[in-house]
Amino acid sequence: MDYQPTIGLEVHVELNTKSKMFCACSNDPNEKKPNVNVCPVCLGHPGVLPVINKEAIRKTIKTGLSLNCQIPEHSKFDRKNYFYPDLPKGYQISQLYMPLCKDGFLGVDGRKIRIREVHLEEDTGKLIHPEDADYSLVDFNRAGVPLMELVTEPDITSAEGARKFAQNLQLILRYLSVSAADMEKGQMRVEANVSASKDKKLGTKVEIKNLNSFRAVERGIDYEIERQRELLDSGEEVLQETRGWDDIKSKTVSQREKEEAHDYRYFPEPDLPPLYNSKQLVEEIKAEIPELPQQKRERFKKEYQPDEKNIEVFVQNKDFGEYFEKVISELPPNLPRENLFKLTKLASNYLITDLQGLLKGASVAGLDFLITPENFAEFITLTYEKKISSKMAKILLTEMFKTGADPSHIIKEKELVQITDEAEIEKIVKEVISKNPKVVEDYKKGKETAIQYLIGQVMAESRGKASPQLVKEILTKVLT
Ligand SMILES: [Zn+2]
Repeated sequence: MDYQPTIGLEVHVELNTKSKMFCACSNDPNEKKPNVNVCPVCLGHPGVLPVINKEAIRKTIKTGLSLNCQIPEHSKFDRKNYFYPDLPKGYQISQLYMPLCKDGFLGVDGRKIRIREVHLEEDTGKLIHPEDADYSLVDFNRAGVPLMELVTEPDITSAEGARKFAQNLQLILRYLSVSAADMEKGQMRVEANVSASKDKKLGTKVEIKNLNSFRAVERGIDYEIERQRELLDSGEEVLQETRGWDDIKSKTVSQREKEEAHDYRYFPEPDLPPLYNSKQLVEEIKAEIPELPQQKRERFKKEYQPDEKNIEVFVQNKDFGEYFEKVISELPPNLPRENLFKLTKLASNYLITDLQGLLKGASVAGLDFLITPENFAEFITLTYEKKISSKMAKILLTEMFKTGADPSHIIKEKELVQITDEAEIEKIVKEVISKNPKVVEDYKKGKETAIQYLIGQVMAESRGKASPQLVKEILTKVLT
């Protein structure tokens, strides 16, 4: 029997409030100058009093509700004591006994990963260790920034599952606009508790820190499972400890042995009143929750029927999904459902393949480009009605992307009009036939594919403007 990994996650998320958790200082993660967003409160001067940031409370409750959590009426803050150079107060205000949200879950690949709680605390400052220097620098801009911590139950059974949980969570946080949740910038930090065991009894838990990307989450946990397996196989003991993931060396390294919770000497924060979260407040916040990724996935599937891969692009990229829906709303009204599905499929394909190609991987966030949804819808309709060939469609779309002009204007200017005059096409067809006697002979002998070559020649002769349907029809007619 093989070892079964048991994984629980702790995720810290910096909330994007205007001000810090307990003072009026600006919460600006992009501030480059050190120690400018500071005041006596977040610097921990004696005698100062913290004031709770209401927006941070609302954002945490909103997140909890979106993760199917209960919101208890009563909640409070606790003081967690520890000395660290980037924590000027000598303690951190956190929540241990009465978190804002508890008992939720998040679906990952159809499985429910239970969420024990989501609570609120304050972030620390940042230490900077200049190379070859015998000193360290400290920047308190981040000290006191609202930090939401989410703790799962140990329901995850693979490194891949942990990575997917983190990705799903990030997307929800972004839909809720509570955090940019950029892992590389430390706005979302994942720690994993990993243990391996052969029987139902849980193995010794090892905490892994420093997982700074989704890739690191998966690789770090995979490494740790393997490390524990090898130890157990050789009859050795797994130590309860904290290990850091080294992305370059691709391994976890022991950082410290785990201290017990009572080392922090938690006690109720005496400077803050307890929180009362009325049903009315919770209902009010619930009403502000937008459509979430999973709901959107299901709705897109029902309403537009593009393929699953395309749906995922629109779900993962919220702005792009919204643009797609605007395009759809501009399509000709009263279309039969079947035609509508064909059009939406065409629209999603052109948006995802061609437009993304034109954007050259640039972010579509904010969709700062020139094609209006109306023009895109017109473009799709022209393509659908076969008024332009697919080759012309590409030229047209590139031009629309460059200039923002409407399709009919460009078609006129660039003479992209499709040739639908049968006599004109027949003239070209006859020319092509007379130039290719060998191919014609092959076709007449039964080589069906020969006609494709002739169609290609006619299309080339017409500089891509002839209607491919008509070319095929006329060619077949003339050749028989
Ligand atoms: Zn401050």
